[in-house]
Amino acid sequence: MQIKVLASGSKGNAIFFELGGTRLLIDAGISARRIEKSLGLFGVKASELDAILVTHEHTDHVNGIDVLARRHCLPVFARPGVWDCLNFKDNLAPECRREIYDSFDIGPVKIEAFQISHDAADPVGFCLSHQGSKHVVATDLGKATKKVIDALAWADTVVLEANHDVDMLANGSYPFFLKKRIRSSVGHLSNLDAARILGSISRRPSMQVFLAHLSQENNHPDLAEKTVREFLLNQGCDVGHEVILHPTYQNQISGYSE
Ligand SMILES: [Zn+2]
Ligand SMILES: [Zn+2]
Repeated sequence: MQIKVLASGSKGNAIFFELGGTRLLIDAGISARRIEKSLGLFGVKASELDAILVTHEHTDHVNGIDVLARRHCLPVFARPGVWDCLNFKDNLAPECRREIYDSFDIGPVKIEAFQISHDAADPVGFCLSHQGSKHVVATDLGKATKKVIDALAWADTVVLEANHDVDMLANGSYPFFLKKRIRSSVGHLSNLDAARILGSISRRPSMQVFLAHLSQENNHPDLAEKTVREFLLNQGCDVGHEVILHPTYQNQISGYSE
């Protein structure tokens, strides 16, 4: 199993998973060229991807899909409501346009899409299961609903949004309407929100956690990690063993493999 967060943040998102030989890309919000180059760094060709899974239609999640999918004839999976918002939909061959309902299989990997609370047409997170292991991506959500908590429970790997530090956002330069949108229940999770979620879910003895979609304006990887670590330590969690925290970046790859 390996995960590589190729890019994470409001300027573009792409997460690569390899599970039992199946190679998946969750979102392709950076350029096709950059995705090809990034995958190449660990010996994967974009043409070897089995699918691109799309969480929602915001530009930072879909920007590279048109070129990448056409160039390599890759199937793209998205909710019908998301497809309706993608203006490159008709550029793709019909066999590349796949609609997601609740769950489906790609090779030996079971993929479940779960609803998240975000200001998009029909946004989802993804839960990937393979031979008893579970890997979950939940970014771009304003609050953790029961569906999200259930999806995250007992996961081996979690990519969870820690978008902003509440004080940095409050005191930062964003206009009021944008601050309000980010803090709303259809906006983005703060570092503390992420910490509380991680503290409340049922956990396996060790869980790899990638803190994702960090704002470059209202957060910092060290601050996100510190906030989550201190919250969990206060709860008696052995951070570093029970929960292993990984930062993610807009312009740098982070990953884990076993
Ligand atoms: Zn986003
Ligand atoms: Zn979004």
